[in-house]
Amino acid sequence: MAKHIFVTGGVVSSLGKGLTAASIGMILERRGLRVAMQKFDPYINVDPGTMSPYQHGEVYVTDDGAETDLDLGHYERFTHAQLTRNSNYTTGKIYSGVIARERQGAYLGCTVQVIPHITDAIKEAIYSAITPEVDVLITEVGGTVGDIESLPFLEAIRQFALDRPRGDVLFVHMTLLPYLRASGEMKTKPTQQSVGKLREIGILPDLLVCRTEEPMSEDMARKISLFCNVRPECVIEERDVAFSIYEVPTDLVRAGLDRRICERLDLPYTGPTDFDDWRAMLERIRSTTDEIEIALVGKYTELSDAYKSIYEALNHAGIHAARKVKVRRVRAEDVSVDQPGQLLTGVHGVLVPGGFGERGLEGKVAAIRWARENRVPFFGICLGMQCAVIEYARDVLGLAGAHTLEHSPHTPHPVIHLMESQKGLETKGGNMRLGAQTCRLVPGSLAARLYGAGEISERHRHRYEYNEAYRARLEAAGLLTSGVHPELGLVEICELPSHPFFIGVQFHPEFKSKPLAPHPIFRGFVQAAIDHARGPGTRSEPGSAAQGAGTGARAREPVPA
Ligand code: GLN
Repeated sequence: MAKHIFVTGGVVSSLGKGLTAASIGMILERRGLRVAMQKFDPYINVDPGTMSPYQHGEVYVTDDGAETDLDLGHYERFTHAQLTRNSNYTTGKIYSGVIARERQGAYLGCTVQVIPHITDAIKEAIYSAITPEVDVLITEVGGTVGDIESLPFLEAIRQFALDRPRGDVLFVHMTLLPYLRASGEMKTKPTQQSVGKLREIGILPDLLVCRTEEPMSEDMARKISLFCNVRPECVIEERDVAFSIYEVPTDLVRAGLDRRICERLDLPYTGPTDFDDWRAMLERIRSTTDEIEIALVGKYTELSDAYKSIYEALNHAGIHAARKVKVRRVRAEDVSVDQPGQLLTGVHGVLVPGGFGERGLEGKVAAIRWARENRVPFFGICLGMQCAVIEYARDVLGLAGAHTLEHSPHTPHPVIHLMESQKGLETKGGNMRLGAQTCRLVPGSLAARLYGAGEISERHRHRYEYNEAYRARLEAAGLLTSGVHPELGLVEICELPSHPFFIGVQFHPEFKSKPLAPHPIFRGFVQAAIDHARGPGTRSEPGSAAQGAGTGARAREPVPA
């Protein structure tokens, strides 16, 4: 029988509960346990797929095609847990299941109520995330204790613990110890109040993880212990990290979290958790000073959560290459179509991420043209790949007005068109082309050299695709198709062999990058950016390619320094 850890949060949102839950997962894995991870989100949307990045940040996609909360990205970056659609439940998803069952007559004669029907559905959701291989399931409850919305989830986890033997369930509550600079004091009252709220519901936390800017003294821990009814050694400090989010797991181990979890869950504690490789990585991050600069040309650049996995994947590749990757966030709509170099000059690579909506599209196309003509490394993801095809069709093939049908229904040249599977769909939720798909790589291509494989699997989230009708012309003009879906024939990757590094992918490789295992395309892109920064003639495999790109009709802008 699996053991359960529930992670709740109090005082304020954005405490880093997702990172803490992911770190707990990592700590347990490194103690030889097999973990599963799950998140409950109290909002009514059935999944975050229909929410704007302004509301929610990035939508993270699992292999099985679920559109989920971005905390699941932390779970995958920190652990080997297999995440599926059972790893993320919202209030909307729980209620829609219960309401559908009610309509089928499953509760015939009953008044369907929050307790027990909704809470039972939440308990079933907890069990749905466990497979026979799992030793510990970590379930994070989104939101802040005290919110109306999260009450059914908290009630359900209280009931859940009641059904299980002692030592099988652990409640971790995360709070904030605010530091008042004027009086030079740390305050425990908000923590006391949020634990009080939790106790009103009937949950007694076993461990408190206290987020703090300043060190938490032993006296402070004792005071929190006394007022919150938690043993002093179970009041764990989580200090703000100095230089990287990847410090969190080792900081928590230093604060004794691994030993306390083992004690409370009756798991053997056989000595300190081995983090040698992780610590070596942290040391590399800390001591890296050389920088390269990548322009991320997107629509939501002011929000750091909107492209979370991309920033992390760039980071991972930078750690591997011992370079700090500085990201110049360029708002696509600010890029001048005539002089894209104004905002881009000096960068060592251009990345255009995925996206929806027309805003900024012409700026993205212009930025790609600039990267192509100036031989600056380019990496396009999903919409970024589609924009690269549009750019090539317009500027190299001379197909004026080439566009995507998503934004230009009457374009004379729909080089990006709606996928067959998407035609006739009238609803919006959960019905894009989603999740892991196989892609066959063209031998010898940049893609094949980067992956070192003939066939790969990557995750998708889109409705539109490269229009096969233009493939022969685009290829004849130099835009190579280097990855294709083996059965459906969909073009998944295109690249310019005549450019130092120019690749667009229809999928989202950022979801599969990990700090100790950076994604091969991100690694190749960062290496190409390093080579670009060093100057011509320093290119390293696999980014090497023949000269001669940039047959564009427009005048070249000066090559950036
Ligand atoms: N809007 C584009 C499509 O639906 C691209 C999607 C994306 O970038 N995730 O095909």
